[in-house]
Amino acid sequence: MVATPKKRSPPPQFEDGLILSAACKRQVAKGVRHILEAVSEHVDGQGTRETPYRVARMYDELLAGYKVDPQALLNEALFDVEYDEMVIVKDIDFHSLCEHHMLPFYGRAHVGYLPDRKVIGLSKIPRMVEMFARRLQVQERMTQQIASFLDETVKPLGVGVVVEGVHLCAVMRGVKKPGSVMVTSAVRGLFKDNHATREEFMAHVRQRFEAR
Ligand SMILES: [Zn+2]
Repeated sequence: MVATPKKRSPPPQFEDGLILSAACKRQVAKGVRHILEAVSEHVDGQGTRETPYRVARMYDELLAGYKVDPQALLNEALFDVEYDEMVIVKDIDFHSLCEHHMLPFYGRAHVGYLPDRKVIGLSKIPRMVEMFARRLQVQERMTQQIASFLDETVKPLGVGVVVEGVHLCAVMRGVKKPGSVMVTSAVRGLFKDNHATREEFMAHVRQRFEAR
């Protein structure tokens, strides 16, 4: 049996992605290579050889929310109804990246609105959350963006959004107690002006806090 000499594989070629062009991916890979070079003394060079390429491809996926067309997302998903009670979608899982450290924050979003003769298809709300999560974010802004987007597109009587997030930049660096959750909320319309409406929404959200 003849052992074939191991060929050194050529550097992977990038293709244009969802959000990053091939040139952008090369630039990301270059940046990651610089980080690895800076800490090379301590790092396994063999194990991280392909890392710059993997990371460059990964960011194309993690930041794809910038590329979602909001109108396409809503496409024909608005329905006329007589229903005028609160609609709440709870426990929407999300994963995002904090723009300060580029580390993940993740958790759950709870979205409620009071329809004004129009409702949006149920599956669209989690997709709306994902569109804003797959970006470089701060949780406060993401919460506001979800509320504003729903408010502007569905034009309901009111909107409430509560987001619970665990931030790895805090947890991993020991800044906060492990497992501490950040809670942000945004309200629009009747959720802001009418105490009973806001309380009804918050009671639904709290119910799940207590059930945990
Ligand atoms: Zn951070």
